[in-house]
Amino acid sequence: MNPTYTAEAESFRAKIQTFLKEKLPKDWQGMGALGPDQRAEFVATWRPTLAEHNLLAVAWPVEYGGSGLSQLERTVLAEEFAKAGVPTGGDNDGFSIGMLGHTLIEWGTEEQKRHYLPRILDGTDVWCQGYSEPNSGSDLASLATKATLDGDEWQINGQKIWTSSGHKANWIFVLCRTDPEVKKQAGISFLLCPLDQQGVDVRPIVNASRHHDFNEVFFTDARTAKENVIGGVNNGWAVANTLLAYERGDDATVTGIRHGEELNRLIAAARGKGKLDDPLIRQRLAWCYSKVQIMRYQGLRAVTNAVNGYHQGPESSLNKLLWSEYHQKLTELALDILGADALTPSGRDAASGVGFDDVASPYSSQGWVTTFMGARPGTIYSGSSEIQRNIVGERVLGLPREPRNDTGPWNETIRS
Ligand SMILES: Cc1cc2nc3c(=O)[nH]c(=O)nc-3n(C[C@H](O)[C@H](O)[C@H](O)COP(=O)(O)OP(=O)(O)OC[C@H]3O[C@@H](n4cnc5c(N)ncnc54)[C@H](O)[C@@H]3O)c2cc1C
Repeated sequence: MNPTYTAEAESFRAKIQTFLKEKLPKDWQGMGALGPDQRAEFVATWRPTLAEHNLLAVAWPVEYGGSGLSQLERTVLAEEFAKAGVPTGGDNDGFSIGMLGHTLIEWGTEEQKRHYLPRILDGTDVWCQGYSEPNSGSDLASLATKATLDGDEWQINGQKIWTSSGHKANWIFVLCRTDPEVKKQAGISFLLCPLDQQGVDVRPIVNASRHHDFNEVFFTDARTAKENVIGGVNNGWAVANTLLAYERGDDATVTGIRHGEELNRLIAAARGKGKLDDPLIRQRLAWCYSKVQIMRYQGLRAVTNAVNGYHQGPESSLNKLLWSEYHQKLTELALDILGADALTPSGRDAASGVGFDDVASPYSSQGWVTTFMGARPGTIYSGSSEIQRNIVGERVLGLPREPRNDTGPWNETIRS
């Protein structure tokens, strides 16, 4: 089952395939075929190649270094990259390009865009996300990290947690309380803050699969320039939500492709273990296949429904719900197929402790066990499933809002 595209889109596809053929190593199979060191080396040269050919921040407007491609062309490009198992950028580009870049384009001043966007493209600034706190996750608007103006600088005090790839970043976009006297959403500002300074301490958190993917970040009189506020002082809640929509929907067009490739690898593993004739395994694999197709069409719907260029809104929560809940079931099936091997996993580990393994990863029980572990938090990060359902109910379907008991000023309702 494959969607059909216009002739123009197909001719663009041919161009991208030629680009990949010319630029990738001759024996290229996919990132999964590389060892950990080779992987890092490849990304270090691949990212500048993409930048040089204007293929790095493809959804940004041309004036800020984007590609000027149509929605459909960008989808085709993402599809071809996903199929070939090549990354669309570096490790933190989901934060740098996908989240902060698009948010700056929507909310930044011209000066902020001209300053920060080129620095993302050339790799000078590498970003991470400072939203969650030990006491503020789903109820993000209750956050307590404080920023106060001190002359020409913001002074930041507080703690963020679960900061993915914070150890690979040199800047953080951080939500701070800048007015405690008003209702919680109204007193937040979206600040940009350098990490390489005395007042910031990034400490690793090692997850259950023994990967260091996220961190805690402590701010003790940390400093950032007064002008590093995006969207205006105390307007950070709106900016934060813009960014979250990009976080949840930016990959909608390729989730079906990536998950389809992973499903094919699982089918191959089931065949290798002689389990493809088991009717219950077949039934579960068929369920997975149908979900992957739904993801595929959901992604295409997101593209064809898009108006006025590239924008993500609350409907991006549907994409996030679909892939994260599917992936838990898929990886449970993977462990059932592995059987006893899953109890004593061995072989090559998955590239990341979160999400899925790369295209062309060879079969390994350790890889699947890590992927199983990495699927567990999928229904938590980027906002939990319960919160996504609330967003879909309230902001997409227009159902009545949840009752609230915390509509007063932040310092009275949250901290008293
Ligand atoms: C792998 C991983 C990476 C992450 N990376 C980042 C990052 O880079 N930057 C960052 O800022 N954060 C990050 N996070 C944090 C993530 O955004 C939060 O974990 C998430 O928002 C949930 O918050 P919490 O953990 O505090 O859980 P809680 O908010 O305490 O939720 C606990 C449970 O209660 C449920 N619940 C809460 N409120 C409601 C409600 N109103 N209705 C129904 N149920 C509700 C939740 O769904 C959940 O099941 C990451 C998390 C993980 C697991």
